[in-house]
Amino acid sequence: MNSSKKVRVRFAPSPTGGLHLGGVRTALFNYLFAKKHNGSFILRIEDTDQSRFVPGAEQYIVDCLNWCGILPDESPNEGGPFGPYRQSERKSNYRQFAEQLIKDGHAYYAFDTPEELAKVREKEPNFKYSHENRLTLKNSLSLSQEEVSDLLNAGAPHTIRIKVPKNQIVTFEDLIRGTVSFETNLLDDKVLLKADGMPTYHLAVVVDDKAMEISHVFRGEEWLPSAPIHILLWKYLGWENEQPSWAHLPLILKPDGKGKLSKRDGIRLGFPVYAMNWTDPQTNELTQGYKETGFLPEAFVNLLALLGWNDGSEQEIFTIQELIESFSLDRIAKGGARFDYTKACWFNHQWLQTYPEDKLTTELRNVLIANGIDNKQIKEDKIQVIFHLIKDRMNLLTDFWDQGNFFFKQPLALDIDSVHKKWNEEKSLFFKEISQEFQNFQNDWNQEVISAFYKSKIKESGMKIGELMLPFRIALVGGKFGPDVFVIAEQLGKQEVVKRLDYFINEISK
Ligand code: GLU
Repeated sequence: MNSSKKVRVRFAPSPTGGLHLGGVRTALFNYLFAKKHNGSFILRIEDTDQSRFVPGAEQYIVDCLNWCGILPDESPNEGGPFGPYRQSERKSNYRQFAEQLIKDGHAYYAFDTPEELAKVREKEPNFKYSHENRLTLKNSLSLSQEEVSDLLNAGAPHTIRIKVPKNQIVTFEDLIRGTVSFETNLLDDKVLLKADGMPTYHLAVVVDDKAMEISHVFRGEEWLPSAPIHILLWKYLGWENEQPSWAHLPLILKPDGKGKLSKRDGIRLGFPVYAMNWTDPQTNELTQGYKETGFLPEAFVNLLALLGWNDGSEQEIFTIQELIESFSLDRIAKGGARFDYTKACWFNHQWLQTYPEDKLTTELRNVLIANGIDNKQIKEDKIQVIFHLIKDRMNLLTDFWDQGNFFFKQPLALDIDSVHKKWNEEKSLFFKEISQEFQNFQNDWNQEVISAFYKSKIKESGMKIGELMLPFRIALVGGKFGPDVFVIAEQLGKQEVVKRLDYFINEISK
């Protein structure tokens, strides 16, 4: 490739469903590389396969990129000098190149019907349309010129296939893998243009990467087997010297390291694989996303960047700006990156600890609303105070509810079992008295005062402090968790504490 080219990279998803975290990582690596080299990051929608088109999937991809802050410089929405950025809108561009390949002897018309091919496949399950059998099939290489013209003139449905040469080695330099070679004898004559006039991925990707002046192709390793077809097309179309640099990113593997992480693995193991919630419009099946599970986009981007890349130091927490600065191709691993959801949660936990507390109130408010708390009742400053108190116990934004629900709603199901065994009349009387005293409390209601008061009452009673802390917590929180109990009491306010103590006394005496 011509190294003086301006850096132009593309993320080229097909709008066929939810966006796998591997797809977001591909977008991210493209983006980081573009931004590092003052280049452009392009979103191109590869929607030429009408049978796999899913309504809503394109907007969903755009929403996911927006959420992550991976914003394209050129895209179907933004437009740009190389548009349109949706392949279906570029349909008229492709046929001419397929025809040119036929003229130059690198492609041919194939008239075999899908039924005919299905029959061949029935007999030969490993059938590959290739140099070995193409002369026995119905195409412009096996038929006479006359027959071909007749068929074309009669409008016979046909595809155009690449004529992959025999006994050659296709070699290219991959920026991550080094020299990669493929034997052409193992390749099949891929369809380039379909009977409906639409190009296949193979033709469209090459034509568009050329037209859009793409300098580097970063894509998942699963596309490596397609690379030799693309390399041949670049050559056959006469663009060999303009081809982009290639980089096939390592796979993201299942937690046990055995194979590519799939949506099904996530469902099986209980963690999200998609960036955002995705509802299949055909089946209405909802697949959980990172956003809705309670991840911060900064943490999601951070953890994705470290799946197959590191900067060579011990540093793990990076802002997107830091990632842009430190990103380099020679630190991308060749081997697959094992996915570890516990580690993913760790990233989010770290981000939550340092995140400006006033910047999360909307997200935290939404967690409360989703759990039935009336929006009007939620005060902005209270969200911040509570977040500050419990964030060290939170991995996910949604943990705001699990760890802090008692600040917003009286717990009615109390873990009475944990105090019942050691319960006695003396303790009952103690709590009744405490409740009374709190009711008439004249001092400031803050944690120091409450703590000093409560501890002095214990002393007076002659009981042990250890025995009276847990019941107080159970009364306020419902269970054995949460921050300092006096801090909780201060936040709840006097009336609420009294109410909860009374409820507790009542419950435990049942
Ligand atoms: N349309 C392909 C996809 O869905 C793009 C592969 C490539 O980047 O060449 O991922």
